[in-house]
Amino acid sequence: MKVIIIGASISGLYTATLLAKQGVNVEVYDRMSGLGGPSRTLIVTGKIKEVLDPVPEEIVLNQVKSLELFSKSRSARIELSYPDLIVERRRFVELLARTAKEAGVRLILNHQFEGYAQFGRKVGITLRDLETNEAKQISADILVGADGVQSAVSRAASRNGHPVAALVQARVTLPESGEENTYRVWFDTNRTNYFYWLIPESGRVAAVGLIADNVSQAKARLIEFLRERQLDVIEFQSAIVPMHQFGSANGVMDSNRNVFVVGDAAAQVKVTTVGGVVPGLYGAKALAQAILNGRNYGKELGGLKMELHLHLLVRHVLNRFSDQDYDQLIGMLDGGLKEILQEWTRDELTQSFLRMIWAEPRLIMLGAKAFVRSLL
Ligand SMILES: Cc1cc2nc3c(=O)[nH]c(=O)nc-3n(C[C@H](O)[C@H](O)[C@H](O)COP(=O)(O)OP(=O)(O)OC[C@H]3O[C@@H](n4cnc5c(N)ncnc54)[C@H](O)[C@@H]3O)c2cc1C
Repeated sequence: MKVIIIGASISGLYTATLLAKQGVNVEVYDRMSGLGGPSRTLIVTGKIKEVLDPVPEEIVLNQVKSLELFSKSRSARIELSYPDLIVERRRFVELLARTAKEAGVRLILNHQFEGYAQFGRKVGITLRDLETNEAKQISADILVGADGVQSAVSRAASRNGHPVAALVQARVTLPESGEENTYRVWFDTNRTNYFYWLIPESGRVAAVGLIADNVSQAKARLIEFLRERQLDVIEFQSAIVPMHQFGSANGVMDSNRNVFVVGDAAAQVKVTTVGGVVPGLYGAKALAQAILNGRNYGKELGGLKMELHLHLLVRHVLNRFSDQDYDQLIGMLDGGLKEILQEWTRDELTQSFLRMIWAEPRLIMLGAKAFVRSLL
């Protein structure tokens, strides 16, 4: 069996490795001339260890054990039982590429996917060599689009794409008040429905960012925030991110069931925090299992879909929160609710959701109030 994967980044390379380790002939194409760019500071939960065991030290910039949350007039501190990892994207992708090559994957850069057509049970794929500008045709049994938020594979299958949000981050000098092992989140509903964050990469550098509707809005608000806190910018990182939807497809792009998408291309992103690394790795695992065992990718994605749907539900409620609602929420962060947030990661909402409601029933009233207020 021959599988062509478009996109040599996190989800594409991980899918490729899992397939190649089982003897599948895999080729991965990317339009970039180098791996892992543009640079990006990522924070991931300890759940990544269930996928990459062990997580190689070379990709981990820092580990954070505490989270501080701030609303307009309250704050709370949560000590995490399982530290979050701060990872540099380029190093991560380079490591995945090395592992993929060791497993037998052929990795070809400077090649842009342009389209596909079905030929009997095969897929004919058109790629452009960006060095020579020549178009090439190759055929495979399976085509996988791991080509990110604006997936050309998904568009070639006539899908409309996903709603997107803009994420802008600045690498800054860690302020004196910052702690190397603590990341911070500020809620400010006048500026963003999401939050501002500060993630320490080390004792000297941190990433500060926010999510908004478009890049220019996000950047303007981030610059305001950086000025207010007198933070010195080293560089900006920005891009659009896909937002998971309830009705989004199962990642199967073609009725022949031989064209699939994974990772950002399939909007496998937690929309509470817009984290896509761990969901993309789980998506890759599900896709590899489906291909290797001839099973249904949509069904293999069951647990991940449930997790992403629950994040979307919580996001719908949070989008309606006022500053006073966040004050109340943070005021509830003691006792049972705090213990659950310490114990369970953001990638385990299906396990922690009912426990949180059970520990703090006022959450239901808070969510319901915000929802009703938004309708009035
Ligand atoms: C600034 C920023 C910060 C983020 N921070 C976090 C975080 O802290 N934690 C977290 O979990 N997530 C974070 N995310 C989201 C996370 O980066 C993505 O969810 C994740 O990288 C998606 O990986 P992927 O492999 O699916 O896609 P991508 O990393 O987008 O890779 C797609 C690949 O496909 C290639 N490609 C695209 N089109 C073509 C084509 N036509 N032909 C050939 N190749 C093509 C691209 O060159 C690229 O290499 C952040 C995103 C941004 C923008």
